[in-house]
Amino acid sequence: MSESPSLFIDGAFVPSTGAESRAIIDPATREVVAHVPDATAADVDQAVAAARRAFDDSDWTRTPAVDRGRILLKVAEAVRARAGELAALETRNTGKPIVEAEFDMSDVAACFEYYGGLATKIHGEVVPVPDGALALALREPVGVAAQIIPWNYPLLMAAWKLAPAICAGCTVVLKPAEETPLTALALAASFEEAGLPAGVVNIVTGDGPQVGARLVAHQDVDKVAFTGSPEVGRQIMQSAAGTLKKISLELGGKSPSIFFADSDFESAVAGALFGVFLNQGEVCSAGSRILVERPIYRQFLDAMVEKARGIRVGNGLERETQMGPLITETHRARVRGYQEIGKGEAKLALGGGVPSGEQFARGFFIEPTIFYDVDNRARIAQEEIFGPVACVIPFDDEERALKIANDTHYGLAAAVWSRDVFRVMRVVRALRAGVVWVNQTQVSAIEAPWGGYKQSGFGRELGRWGVEEYLQVKQVYINVDDQPFRWY
Ligand code: NAP
Ligand code: MG
Repeated sequence: MSESPSLFIDGAFVPSTGAESRAIIDPATREVVAHVPDATAADVDQAVAAARRAFDDSDWTRTPAVDRGRILLKVAEAVRARAGELAALETRNTGKPIVEAEFDMSDVAACFEYYGGLATKIHGEVVPVPDGALALALREPVGVAAQIIPWNYPLLMAAWKLAPAICAGCTVVLKPAEETPLTALALAASFEEAGLPAGVVNIVTGDGPQVGARLVAHQDVDKVAFTGSPEVGRQIMQSAAGTLKKISLELGGKSPSIFFADSDFESAVAGALFGVFLNQGEVCSAGSRILVERPIYRQFLDAMVEKARGIRVGNGLERETQMGPLITETHRARVRGYQEIGKGEAKLALGGGVPSGEQFARGFFIEPTIFYDVDNRARIAQEEIFGPVACVIPFDDEERALKIANDTHYGLAAAVWSRDVFRVMRVVRALRAGVVWVNQTQVSAIEAPWGGYKQSGFGRELGRWGVEEYLQVKQVYINVDDQPFRWY
């Protein structure tokens, strides 16, 4: 890609009013893939104004649900038709293995399809009230939504936010992460053909402290949907207080996976590895704390190490690659820092550095790393690393496993592996996490609710829960008594 994408405002690609731009880098090679503008305050204001007009003054909010649904289905069709191109672009921009990017594109399309179908199933209620009157609870779109997303699943995170907002009849200003705006901009080229009216979705590129913060504080924005780190989540909550915006926050995690001795050994080991190493470990729900029951602990660790040794690290565009580079040099330095911290806190079973060899010389590669005999109070077990670093922790019984699992400020996800259905259900209920997998990990079904407990945020994405975040309820009280109301 050599052309330089611009901002997408009011249905058109437009240049920034400013001169600043940033280079978008392929993390496997450090090649410049594109230059993208840094939106100015004026650009942000224009995007918000376009979204505001589309909500307040256009036919959008009167567009029948069936037509909004059709538009979403057409966006899905465009994603499927362009899946190869979009997946390759996603891999160039994020480094992730192409096979994973292809799965992402399929999930992106499925997300638009799901909300395309849901559009006609949103309805209010009739509420019984005294005096024979009729009360209605109408469900209406919240208005203009600012959507701020991270770099780990750029187009998928955009889809999780755009699809329910369009489904609800909102309008949107989306801010991709500064590192990864390319696939969202590429998809915008298909909006018009899908029938999406101008101004319903706007995309502004640039960094969080400038562009994101202005959106959050903007008086013409009604709602902020954010996915990212708890630190930025806190800032957003504070800033949104200024205009009392509705907000939803999807934040990080330090998710536990609990492996009991009666689990199917092979699928448990495979699950532990998939849980922590998928997408280079740059996954909010990564199963980064691997709790293993003492009788199988050593054997489990050995099996993990043996399998993880075979993970093929490399350029994501090569089909055999199983783990790509991290997103930036800065992020790799941060993850490298945790590798070093870990060496002082626990025992190292695998990795612990960067891979050597000519093919790794330029990219932000890092070795899949496994620490064991980790104390759950250690920094590597408490802080989100967001890279391929596993903490293996032994436990003696169910009660102890639950204590360790819940001993974290986070509560995004958890997994439990066992064949004992009674124990599984006890553990499921005791885990304080918004998503709990049983004998499975990292699945995010479009139909089911996704979001965190505790400091992993609030609000839910996906399924019918996801659209609720973009709706508000209007009470309509209808008097059916034709006698005058003689109070005075
Ligand atoms: P981040 O630093 O919090 O950034 C997320 C987004 O917020 C980016 O677009 C960023 O912009 C923007 N931002 C930064 N400062 C801002 C501010 N003051 N006001 C408004 N927006 C601001 O997170 P990240 O490093 O990109 O992503 C990693 C984090 O996301 C991890 O903690 C991970 O767990 C979490 N995550 C959670 C989920 C989930 O579903 N719960 C999914 C994926 C990731 P720029 O970066 O462009 O400056
Ligand atoms: Mg960032």
